Amino acid sequence: MSGEQTYEKFLPEGIPEWQRPFWESLREHAVRVQRCTRCGTYRYHPKEKCHRCPSRDAEWAPVSGRGEIYTYTVIRRAPTPAYAPDVPYTIVHVTMVEGFRMVGTLEGIDPDQVRIGLPVVLAYRDVTEDWTLIGFRPGSGT
Ligand SMILES: [Zn+2]
Repeated sequence: MSGEQTYEKFLPEGIPEWQRPFWESLREHAVRVQRCTRCGTYRYHPKEKCHRCPSRDAEWAPVSGRGEIYTYTVIRRAPTPAYAPDVPYTIVHVTMVEGFRMVGTLEGIDPDQVRIGLPVVLAYRDVTEDWTLIGFRPGSGT
């Protein structure tokens, strides 16, 4: 893609082209997740084949962006120097209301206040011109 790459943290570069619609939906701040058109099962992360039925057919379906914390990890040691200003920060595994789990950075709450079961909503993290990453913040949406 384009632009000066001054962002020094991890980006999901090198993803297969067929998974690109997911990342484009994040950039558009309108997340869409792969869903089996035969049985309706969501596939996240994207997969070439349904794990519940034999179908390879899928669509990119809008989802609520709402969920609750399944588990979390507080990062206290920066994985690279670029993350040093961020620590401590929290990575959450979120069970979405649609039933699949997503992983992202939790924003807007002190790591010591995080609890399993806390309601969260997706927060779009526009980290570069080309990339929006998955974040969450406390809240139950609308
Ligand atoms: Zn299926």
